[in-house]
Amino acid sequence: MNPFEQVLQAHPWLKEFESTLQPLCPDCKVKVGEKHDPGCDIARCSVCGDQHMCCDCEDGQPDIWIGLMYPTECKVCLEKGLWCYTAILVDGDEYPITSPEMHHLALRLRDEKGFKMKFHIPCGRDDPGASPDINRAMIFTQRGI
Ligand SMILES: [Zn+2]
Ligand SMILES: [Zn+2]
Repeated sequence: MNPFEQVLQAHPWLKEFESTLQPLCPDCKVKVGEKHDPGCDIARCSVCGDQHMCCDCEDGQPDIWIGLMYPTECKVCLEKGLWCYTAILVDGDEYPITSPEMHHLALRLRDEKGFKMKFHIPCGRDDPGASPDINRAMIFTQRGI
């Protein structure tokens, strides 16, 4: 069994995200099925589930890279049906993001100039461009503690 098959067997819900699974952790570069480096930004604590670098658990270990950023939140999205697509929404008008530069410019206008805009627009799971709405899932997971 290859490592992907192993994590899919351990976490059957991951199948829903199979097409987006990444073989290497984008931060510490461990392979799927391996434990993150202790200093990795993406690693979660094996005890409390928070970011490993920020938590104080004595027995906390970095968790295993399963190919997905925010695995806890993705699972919540799946369970609660939290999906969104990405576009720029200003005063009710919607603009598709057509280039990384455009996304970057919009973020600058929001963060540096205080323009009011939204990027993650709730939608149905089968809508074009639907991806897990991590931001809304985080609200759920924080309430759950
Ligand atoms: Zn990592
Ligand atoms: Zn912890």
